[in-house]
Formats: sequence, structure tokens, C-alpha cells
Amino acid sequence: FDQMEGQIWFNGEFVDWRDAKIHVLTHGLHYASAVFEGERAYGGRIFKLTEHNRRLHRSAEILGFKIPYSVEELDAASIELLERQGFSEAYVRPVAWRGSEMMGVSAQHNRINVAIAIWQWGSYFNPAEKLKGIRLDIAEYRRPDPRTAPCESKAAGLYMICTISKHAAEAKGYADAMMLDYRGQVAEATGANIFFVKDGVIHTPTPDCFLNGITRQTVIELARRRGYQVVERAIMPEELSTFSECFLTGSAAEVTPVSEIGPYRFTPSTVCETLMNDYRKEVYPVAAAAE
Ligand code: PMP
Repeated sequence: FDQMEGQIWFNGEFVDWRDAKIHVLTHGLHYASAVFEGERAYGGRIFKLTEHNRRLHRSAEILGFKIPYSVEELDAASIELLERQGFSEAYVRPVAWRGSEMMGVSAQHNRINVAIAIWQWGSYFNPAEKLKGIRLDIAEYRRPDPRTAPCESKAAGLYMICTISKHAAEAKGYADAMMLDYRGQVAEATGANIFFVKDGVIHTPTPDCFLNGITRQTVIELARRRGYQVVERAIMPEELSTFSECFLTGSAAEVTPVSEIGPYRFTPSTVCETLMNDYRKEVYPVAAAAE
């Protein structure tokens, strides 16, 4: 991945992709003092760019550091990088981390570095294929109590249990894992929020110990616009047998139907299909959508 062509925006400059390097004694690497975002560009426009950069700032504040570029500067850098990279459909990855000036848990004066990379990460969009749904395992690790970890921050450190859980699921042939929270309630997948359908009503866990995803909020709005009732509440895993449809939402995942979670089965149908298509229409710039 570090040998691709193109440019990366790195601390205010556009550098060659292969030259965007950091030192092995980077604090962010040793102590996970890093936050990031994930966005997608559609038809040459980055969907909800400003919301993502605002969340990047907020994530850093929760970890106790300030990103030295404003939201507007990060927006402008992302837009220019997308142009320079020459993509209209792409994935956008901003990241900010404490640098290598001092070693040790405390790193009050280390430089805050920021980079943005943009590459082509295929949006999986053969609707018929996607509607078959993906298979999820149930993870062993649970999302931590908000008193244990800064769960409102999109902090790199919180992804340690996600990578372990996703690898364990993949080793068993699943696409991903559904994670419970510290109370045993359904939380989310390793990089996406989760929704269920019962009798035409949409149910989704209350985001009180995991990210209230930007896609999650968009899809709730789209569903309500369609006249669906959306209920945010505690969902216990035993309840999964009562739901007919299930889907994930995320900037990378978009709306992804789910067909299995451990012993539970779902049949992606009208609600999945409607919201997949509505999300698709929503993310494209108006002019492009009209063509
Ligand atoms: N939960 C986790 C753990 C994630 O990594 C993501 C992706 N950022 C989401 C939820 C969905 O967030 P969003 O819709 O803002 O991409």
C-alpha cells in the first residue's frame, strides 16, 4: 500500500505517496495517540466532508490534542487532493497523531501531525450481489464501557479489539463480526453500525458506547423520509431471531445487507433494497444524479 502512485497531503504539503513516512518512535504508533476518519467521494464530491472533519477535530479533543489545521483547511486540502489524484469515486482517509519528539506515555509537546490519503476503494455495488447479504460472527470482545474508553472518539486505539474480532471472524469464513457492548447488548460491527427490521419497523441500538455514525444518521433520516418508523433502543442478542432483515451502515460499508449473524438468519428484502438505493441517490451530487 505504501508503494502506490500519486500524492498524499502531509502536514500542509502535497508529497509523493512513497515519501509520506514517519519515524518508528512515533507516539501514535506506541501509545495509540491517533484519530482518523473515513469518507467516500461520489461523482467527484466527498460526501459530508465537513461533518467528517468536524468529527476528526472532536475525536482529537477527546484524546486531549488539537489538530493544527482548521476544518475549512482540511476540507480544502481533501478537495484539492481528490482533484490531484484524479478520481471521482474514491475513499478518503485523514489521520492525525502525536509525533516522535518525546518518548513515554506523556507527550504533551509532541508535534500533532496530520495526513490525508485518497485511493480507489471499490464501492461494492452490484445491487443483486449485495442483496444476498454478508455473514457475521458474534465477537468475543465487547465494546467498552464509556468509563473505560473514550468511545465517542474515532480513536485508533479503539480499533485494536475490532481488528482482533474481524480476523477471528474471517478465520471462520465470516465477512465480519457483530460486537456486543459491556452490558451484553448488541452494539455494532467492527467498522459499521447495525440495524434490524421487524414488521416494517426499523430497530437500531442506541449509540451510547460506540460511534453514532454519520451514515447511521443519514440512513435514519432517509428511512423516516420514506415513512418508516425508526426505534433506537437496547437490543439483546436473544432478540435477533425475531427480526426479518438486518443491515450495516458506514462510510465504507454504505448500506450492506446481512444474511446471517451466528445462528440467526435474515432475508434482505424491501427495507434493505429501498435504503440501499435511497442512500445511493443521496450521496451523489444533485447534478450528477440528474444526468
Ligand atoms: N462504527 C465504527 C466502529 C466505525 O469504524 C464506523 C466507520 N467510521 C462506523 C461505526 C460508521 O461511521 P460512519 O457512518 O460515520 O462512517
